[in-house]
Amino acid sequence: MNIVLLGAPGAGKGTQAVVLSQQYNLKLVGTGDLLRKEISGGSAPGLKASVFVEAGQLVPDELVFDIIQDNLTDTDWERGLLFDGFPRTLNQAEKLDKMFTSQRKNIDRVLFISADNAILVDRLVNRRICQSCLRVFGRETQSNGSSGKCKICGGVLTKRPDDNPETVKKRLQEYKEKTEPILRYYGGKVLRVDGSLTIQDVTKQLIAAVESSSIHQ
Ligand code: AMP
Repeated sequence: MNIVLLGAPGAGKGTQAVVLSQQYNLKLVGTGDLLRKEISGGSAPGLKASVFVEAGQLVPDELVFDIIQDNLTDTDWERGLLFDGFPRTLNQAEKLDKMFTSQRKNIDRVLFISADNAILVDRLVNRRICQSCLRVFGRETQSNGSSGKCKICGGVLTKRPDDNPETVKKRLQEYKEKTEPILRYYGGKVLRVDGSLTIQDVTKQLIAAVESSSIHQ
């Protein structure tokens, strides 16, 4: 089974992608994470991408594709894929379709996590990431006294550099202009869930959406 997970920044895609990929044993392809890995590793594509990521802009399509291709093996295609944060432009969506066609595979589910702008902004500017275990914490889940330490592993909690209010505004603008039109592209295939609920409730809805039709492979 292959899944595309759509939603604005802050909708909870990353958190839910981890759960769904484990539940259905899918290879998780999170383009934001892949790009951050290239950036922190100081690779040539990472250096190119960093300018865009820091400015809250989308990274050029070719660069994102190259990184995806470099991270996908034939075994991954056989196992099934879960895309998180990709596609983000119509061009990416069209190219992804071509990739699936050439692999003789289908996108079985397009899941969309929706949430209001006010919720998205609040979540993004308040979220923290553990430097050691990379778990993501929202305002409600990060507390471990006032120590600023991860309650799971004790690592230091940090803020993503692009989670500052200015960059968040730009990211949401990019989403509206370039990513939202993808919902029309996928049309009736899109299964929408309410992203304003708790993590567990959103997971339940997503699983119900995945199980909702007979195409389950
Ligand atoms: P995310 O972790 O999904 O919020 O992504 C962080 C940043 O990485 C975005 O603001 C973009 O700059 C970049 N990015 C991630 N995925 C894509 C993509 N599919 N296309 C273009 N840029 C992307």
